Amino acid sequence: MSTYDVAIIGSGPGGYVAAIRCAQLGMKTALIEKYDTLGGTCLNVGCIPSKALLDSSEHFHNAKHNFTEHGINITGLEADINQMIARKAEVVSQTCNGIKFLMDKNNVTVYNGWGSFASKNSILIKGKDSEETIEAKNIIIATGSKPNFFPGMEPDKDRIITSTEALKMKEIPKRLLVIGGGVIGLELGSVYARLGSEVEVVEFADSIIPTMDKTLGKELTRVLKKEGFKFHMEHKVQSVVNTGKGVKLTALNKKDQEVVLEADYCLVAVGRKAYTAGLNLENAGLTANNRGQVEVNDHLQTSIPNIYAIGDVVRGAMLAHKAEEEGVYVAELIAGQKPHINYNLIPGVVYTWPEVAAVGKTEEELKAAGVEYKVGSFPIKALGRARASMDTQGLVKILADKNTDEVLGVHMIAPRAADLIMEAVVAMEYRASAEDIARICHPHPTYSEAIKEAALDATAARALHV
Ligand code: FAD
Ligand code: NAD
Repeated sequence: MSTYDVAIIGSGPGGYVAAIRCAQLGMKTALIEKYDTLGGTCLNVGCIPSKALLDSSEHFHNAKHNFTEHGINITGLEADINQMIARKAEVVSQTCNGIKFLMDKNNVTVYNGWGSFASKNSILIKGKDSEETIEAKNIIIATGSKPNFFPGMEPDKDRIITSTEALKMKEIPKRLLVIGGGVIGLELGSVYARLGSEVEVVEFADSIIPTMDKTLGKELTRVLKKEGFKFHMEHKVQSVVNTGKGVKLTALNKKDQEVVLEADYCLVAVGRKAYTAGLNLENAGLTANNRGQVEVNDHLQTSIPNIYAIGDVVRGAMLAHKAEEEGVYVAELIAGQKPHINYNLIPGVVYTWPEVAAVGKTEEELKAAGVEYKVGSFPIKALGRARASMDTQGLVKILADKNTDEVLGVHMIAPRAADLIMEAVVAMEYRASAEDIARICHPHPTYSEAIKEAALDATAARALHV
């Protein structure tokens, strides 16, 4: 029987990054993945394919709506969904092959098969035609998550679909219903809205992206309405049925009146749930909690000391970069180091256009905690760079401690906000004040000037360009 220092179940960004770090630290490492390709949700049916389609659809949208004003005239413009999906598949394939290359380079042994606990130190791996058991001193559970749904909205994967099917459509829906105004609903809704679908979002809460700072939800609603999105807020979905040629959704609005909506497809995007099915946790002395998650302590260690869990399968944000940080953390912990993760500084991004990005506390969280804070903000439209590129929507909002000026939260809707937010993350990691950011020279003309201006506004209401 093969014996390893560490065996990792699941090859998503949590699992494969943990494998690389374990190998770098000199540990004999095994990685077990039930699918033929490595990379998990993120690379196969998540981050990478969704961004590939977001980019393709954004090019189409710009060509259709913005090129003429730039002085570029195109005739016969058409969106070829089959080519977009084929390009996406190629991007996914190259990225997944890249992970296989990294495993080989780092001497990580990859097992393709279903992993389940035989004991607290051994894993049974069932492949297509074979089965074997391996032993490991330490085991990391990195089995990720699956799409969630509630009674009445069970996906049939034909017309009532999850993100996975939405990433491989064979046609551009004329009408698309989306249940859930969160990250997946708005990103994949954007893809099809840009390609011409009439997109209607049915959301349970009173705001889209409800867990982010409320200013962002308000601004994003305005932006997406201009793109043609329709929103049905505070609606409770009762049922969705596949009518053969389309879908029929019934919901109750906030006055408890029945609302019926029809479309070609319905995307169910109401969150994801931890995936532990078939892991036989009980053979290792573990059980999943009532949300299906593996319970861990502050060191990502389960109640069985040699077994750890990371990523979507444990508490916290379901984000690839959070899973990666946890993978590195556990590898270094097993190697005897003293790693650290600052969970307050895990940025969140929504890849609409403009993009939405945030880090640290929201205004609502600061209010609830009784923290005295001040707000600085700056509109993107006041930037020369924004006018040059015709990307004038959005804002940057900085929340700073009223007494010490320390930056506590940064929230933005801006072109390339996904990249801009890193300035805030670095500043906050080093506990910068708003004035520190305001006094740093920012290149002109850039979108980053909005961060400096918002910091100036927070420091002493002395933004320069408004
Ligand atoms: P996963 O990536 O889910 O990987 C788990 C792996 O374990 C899977 O490959 C699975 O097959 C395998 N597995 C499970 N059980 C077993 C078993 N018993 N035996 C063997 N293998 C097993 N996050 C971002 O940060 N940015 C984004 O832009 C982003 N976009 C997203 C878009 C979509 C449409 C979706 C669905 C998600 C997106 N996410 C994004 C979230 C991100 O994909 C997840 O947070 C991330 O993949 C979690 O990583 P993980 O390693 O914990 O699990
Ligand atoms: P989410 O939690 O972002 O959004 C779910 C939305 O559905 C929320 O607005 C919620 O209020 C709403 N909702 C819940 N129950 C409902 C109901 N019964 N009827 C109507 N609305 C309901 O979840 P998601 O969009 O499915 O994404 C899942 C996970 O994947 C998220 O945790 C996210 O972090 C991750 N993800 C991240 C990115 C990114 O980082 N850019 C992209 C896609 C997915």
